[in-house]
Amino acid sequence: MSARTAATEVARRLAEAGHTALFAGGCVRDGLLGKEPKDYDVATSATPAQVLRLFPGSNEVGAHFGVVIVKQDGVHIEVATFRTDGSYKDGRRPETVEFSTPPEDAQRRDFTVNGLFQNPVSGEIIDYVGGLADLKARTLRAIGTPGDRFGEDALRLLRAVRFATVLGFEIEPITWQAIRDHADDLAKISPERIRDEFSKLITAPNRRRGLELLVDSGLIRHIVPEVLALIGCDQPPQWHPEGDVYIHTSIMLEMLGTDASLELCLAVLLHDIAKPPTRTYDEAEDRIRFNGHDAMGAVMAEEILRRLKYPNHVIEAVVPMVARHMQFMNVQKMRTAKLKRFMASAEFEDELELHRVDCGSSNGFTDNYEYLLAKREEFSSQPLIPAPLVGGRDLIAMGFTPGPQFREWLEAVETEQLEGRITDREAALGLLRELTSKAKN
Ligand code: ATP
Ligand code: MG
Repeated sequence: MSARTAATEVARRLAEAGHTALFAGGCVRDGLLGKEPKDYDVATSATPAQVLRLFPGSNEVGAHFGVVIVKQDGVHIEVATFRTDGSYKDGRRPETVEFSTPPEDAQRRDFTVNGLFQNPVSGEIIDYVGGLADLKARTLRAIGTPGDRFGEDALRLLRAVRFATVLGFEIEPITWQAIRDHADDLAKISPERIRDEFSKLITAPNRRRGLELLVDSGLIRHIVPEVLALIGCDQPPQWHPEGDVYIHTSIMLEMLGTDASLELCLAVLLHDIAKPPTRTYDEAEDRIRFNGHDAMGAVMAEEILRRLKYPNHVIEAVVPMVARHMQFMNVQKMRTAKLKRFMASAEFEDELELHRVDCGSSNGFTDNYEYLLAKREEFSSQPLIPAPLVGGRDLIAMGFTPGPQFREWLEAVETEQLEGRITDREAALGLLRELTSKAKN
C-alpha cells in the first residue's frame, strides 16, 4: 500500500464523518513538482479528540498543537487540526494554538510553496497564499511579513535555505534580506534541530549552492563557523590553481554524486578545515605549507560534529576520512600488505571518492585514483584481509603465554600472507616457529 493511498483513506474516513480533510504542506508541493513525497500530512477540521475516536490506537504526539499520528496500513500519517498559532515568545514555539479554518491554517505555515492544500479525492489545489505562482516561478517566499515570521521561529531561517537548496529555488529578495537580518537568531535553536536541517542541505545535489547560501546569509556562523576561515586561505598555486580552500572545498562538494552519503559530504566539507590554523610560509622553498592539517583536521572535525550532536556512527566514519585523506598521495609507494590494510577500511569507498574530487577540484591528477581502481580490481577475487592461517592458540600450543608479543608475531605472519608469500597453514606455522625461536632462547 502506497503512502498516498493510505493518506487518502485516512482523509476519506474523516470526510465520511463530516469533517474537512485535505493534504497539506510538503506532500502537495512535492506532488506538484513531480517528486515522490516523503510523507503525507493531512489537515482537518476534526479536533484531536475526534481524530482519536475515528482512529483508535493513534498516537497523540502533539495534541497541544492539534497533531495526531494515525497508523494506516503500516504508514504513519500526521493528522493536524486546522489551527492558528498564538504569540511566539521564545523565538521557537507558539505559547498557545487555537483551532481554526483552512485559510488561517495556511497563514501560520512558513513558505508559500509549503502553504498549499489539496483535496485528496478530486485532486483540486486550494491556494490561499500564492503558493502555486511561486512554485511555478521556483521562488521561496515567506508567508506574511518575512521579518515577523523569522522572529517567531528562527528554525525557519535555516529551513528557507534548505528548501531553496533541495528544491533549487531562488529566495525572494525581501525574504532573503530578512534571513540576513535575523541570522543570529539561529543561536536560539537546539543543535539537534540545526543538525537535521543541515544534513538535508549538505546531502542535496545542490549542496555547493546550499553552503554558499549559508555563508552569504550569515547562518553558517551558528552551524560551522570554522568554514569562514577557509575563505581567503590561499594555497600554493602550483597544486591549487582553483584558488583558496573555500573554493577548493566548494568545487569538491559540487563534484560529488547526487547520492553521496552524509558521511562523505561531511568529510569533504571538513577535510581541509585545519588548513587555516596550520598554514605556514616556507621561506627556503618559497611556498605555503599546511603541515599536519590532516591530523588537526580530524580533531577539529570531531569537535564540530560533537557540537552538532551527530551520532557516534557518523563521527566514527567522518573523522578517520579526514585523518587519512593525505595518505592517498602515498598509495603507489605502499607495500601490498600495507595497501590491503589501507583499502580494508570500512570507509574506503567514500574515501576513494573524496580523493577523486580532491584531485579533480585542484591539480587534476588521476594517477593515484586509477592505481587504486586497478588494485581494487586485482584484489577483488579474495577478501582483502583473508581468514588468518594461525592464531593465539598455536602460540599457546608452542608453550607461550599470551602477551603483547602475540599481536606482533601474528601480524608479521599476516603481512606475509597479505603479500602472497605464504598461502597455507604449514608455511604459516613454520614462520611462526622462526619468529618465536629467539624469544624461546
Ligand atoms: P520535508 O518533509 O520534505 O522536509 P515539508 O514541507 O513536509 O518538507 P515538514 O517539516 O514535514 O516540511 O513540515 C510540514 C509542513 O508544516 C510544512 O510544509 C509547513 O507547511 C509546515 N511547517 C513545518 N515547520 C514549520 C515551521 N517551523 N514554521 C511554520 N510552518 C512549518
Ligand atoms: Mg514533511
